[in-house]
Amino acid sequence: DGLVSTGIEDQRQGGGRAEEVARRLQALAQKVSEMEDEAQGFREHIEEQRQKALTDPLTGLANRAGWSERLELEVARWKRYGGDLLLAVLDIDHFKRINDGYGHLAGDKVLKIIAGELSKRLRKTDFLARFGGEEFVLLLPGTPLEGGQQLLETLRAGVESCPFHFRGEPVTITLSSGLTAFASGDSGEAAFARADQALYKAKREGRNRIELG
Ligand code: GH3
Ligand code: MG
Ligand code: MG
Repeated sequence: DGLVSTGIEDQRQGGGRAEEVARRLQALAQKVSEMEDEAQGFREHIEEQRQKALTDPLTGLANRAGWSERLELEVARWKRYGGDLLLAVLDIDHFKRINDGYGHLAGDKVLKIIAGELSKRLRKTDFLARFGGEEFVLLLPGTPLEGGQQLLETLRAGVESCPFHFRGEPVTITLSSGLTAFASGDSGEAAFARADQALYKAKREGRNRIELG
């Protein structure tokens, strides 16, 4: 009786162990699944933070960090595959007057609207960033110079014809641009410097215009 009972007991214990192992495996699988979800959450959070660090909160455009990253990529691509690559610097004319005359909040609103006006006329492969203040930078991969000039003219005219109103008064806002094409042996810095110089020329020559550099 004692022996039989022990035998049964052992069998029960054996079954109990298998169940226990299965239970533990199940718990482990559950834990792994939870950790995978958590890791995915972390990855998403990191990517979100990365995007945030590259974005200008006012306009939603890329900020300077985003610009640097993209410029590096497009220049590397251009060096490898060749083709046309254009770079433009755009600067709102007499923007200080908007701030001084109507306040910084009005100025901010103008920046937001102009960013939208510019963006909506670009191709998916073009890249627009807010370089700082009231200055924007534009990269046009695979775009010949004439096409770039046409686009900048469209952007210039688009901003000029934007119906801004301050305190019920219509106000015209314009921008000036410097445009340059990458040439063999070029660097992002050198191209930027040329476009920036061309922008200053556009300012000197009376603003609301595009100059080549
Ligand atoms: P120019 O035609 O020569 O470019 O004249 P400007 O007045 O646009 O140029 P300036 O560089 O003298 O002034 C730029 C102004 O842009 C100064 C600053 O008040 C304004 N600004 C820069 N960043 C911001 C911003 O984030 N919000 C607002 N509201 N204004 C800004
Ligand atoms: Mg400026
Ligand atoms: Mg300006």
